[in-house]
Amino acid sequence: MTVVRDFLDAHIARIEPLSREVNLAYWNATISGHADDFERYAQLEVELQRVYTNAHEFESVKRWLSDASDGLQGRQLEILYRTYLRNQIDPAQIEEMTRLSSKIVQSFGTYRARVDGNQLTGNDVRNALKQSSDAAYRRRVWEADKAVGREVRDELLKLVRLRNQVARSLGFSDYYVMSLELSEQRAQDLAGLFDRLDGATREPFARAKEELDAALAQRYGIATADLRPWHYEDPFFQEMPRVFDVDFDRYYRDQDVVDVARRFFEGIGLEVRDILAHSDLYEKPGKEQHAYCLDIDRRGDVRVLANVQHDETWAGTMLHELGHAVYDRYIDAELPFLLREHAHVFATEAIAMLFGRLSKDAQWIDRMVGVQVPEREHLARESERNSRLSQLIFARWCQVMVRFERALYANPDGDLNDAWWDLVEHYQAVPRPDGRDEPDWAAKIHIVSAPVYYHNYMLGELFASQLDHSLQTRVLRANNGHESFVGNRAVGDFLRERVFAAGKRWHWDKLVQHATGEPLNPQHFVEQYVR
Ligand SMILES: [Zn+2]
Repeated sequence: MTVVRDFLDAHIARIEPLSREVNLAYWNATISGHADDFERYAQLEVELQRVYTNAHEFESVKRWLSDASDGLQGRQLEILYRTYLRNQIDPAQIEEMTRLSSKIVQSFGTYRARVDGNQLTGNDVRNALKQSSDAAYRRRVWEADKAVGREVRDELLKLVRLRNQVARSLGFSDYYVMSLELSEQRAQDLAGLFDRLDGATREPFARAKEELDAALAQRYGIATADLRPWHYEDPFFQEMPRVFDVDFDRYYRDQDVVDVARRFFEGIGLEVRDILAHSDLYEKPGKEQHAYCLDIDRRGDVRVLANVQHDETWAGTMLHELGHAVYDRYIDAELPFLLREHAHVFATEAIAMLFGRLSKDAQWIDRMVGVQVPEREHLARESERNSRLSQLIFARWCQVMVRFERALYANPDGDLNDAWWDLVEHYQAVPRPDGRDEPDWAAKIHIVSAPVYYHNYMLGELFASQLDHSLQTRVLRANNGHESFVGNRAVGDFLRERVFAAGKRWHWDKLVQHATGEPLNPQHFVEQYVR
């Protein structure tokens, strides 16, 4: 229909330059940390969202969608329908939510843990919890790191209530349910999937954690019953502590991890030189301390923000972020603007994870940075144990985040401090510090900046294992065991053709089917890491 085509053309002409401005403003703000840069970003974001508050246009899109075909035009209308729907709210509310979340993100970015008169960066906290054998010091670092929760709690709860108010005004029971529906997911499907994963991981996790706790207790000279959150190196126990005699960092200490990642991607036929040239990769005062990838314009300007140090964490992070980046870079440039995006956030996470996993893969380390012959067997054994345990630990941690967010939006007035620790004890088997009643949940930035998103990391792991299985059996033709991706351009070709190119032209379930020949399911993840 001409009228639809004319509308889409005009719409894209309006939002394409604006969304580029929004992305650039976010990029600049997270690098400078300046309040006025965040303010500029917030203003532009509000301006972009305001486009979608137009009720008249929303009604037209809804009408056109009801008799649209399955083609590219129909798909664009589907995407627009959801974007308009989520914005059919009072503009003052949109503005307030955007400002509030931007302000809290800024508080996280500029927060520095204070311990014994020193200010610690995120990297300092991570290093202290990795290296210090002084349990009392570890506790002070852990508590100071968590204290950001107390600083942001009130504003975060205000934001949560506001999000719920908005969801109800659009006819959803709460913001959690709305967010899933608007991203083409369903709360009940997700709950079923997480229950199945809980069932498949509970016992293996309990056994593995017993072994882990024994090693940690020995390290600190205490009983396993006295282990507390600060004994597990990661502040949320979302990663595995390095207790099993394998120091991956040493393989990267004398390497330029950015260059290692670049060589790897080029070897599988995926170009990243232009991405790295646009990126901002090293620590700066005021700069956001996490890492992310951003497609600025859907025309090839894809960037990574990072705070690289030459260790395994940052090697893995660079592989992960560049995974997001190559996905964006290789989306079919002929697709209309609205479809030049990854199929779903969990699909881009899957690609990022498929590559992020490699920094701890013995074969990959050997091929990319070299391992002395006598160490090889030991490294292979330990890296396998490590990846199994880390995946188990991560899968259990995801249960906490996903279930907590559901509870948070279902009842923001409940005892959240207690609910958080109930989940941590039940799913991660980490006991709460005695008598602790602090908003430790509010110290997790994702609740602010990426609400109702965390489940996508787990779905990403499932899809990554599914893709890995397809690559092994259909591309690398591995007979038994695991063939390395290194230097194999067929790996890049497969991903480009089967995953990246399609962009958002199909619903995600069709993409998963197209790429792997089966629907999204936990089987390959369980086979790879749990059995
Ligand atoms: Zn990611």
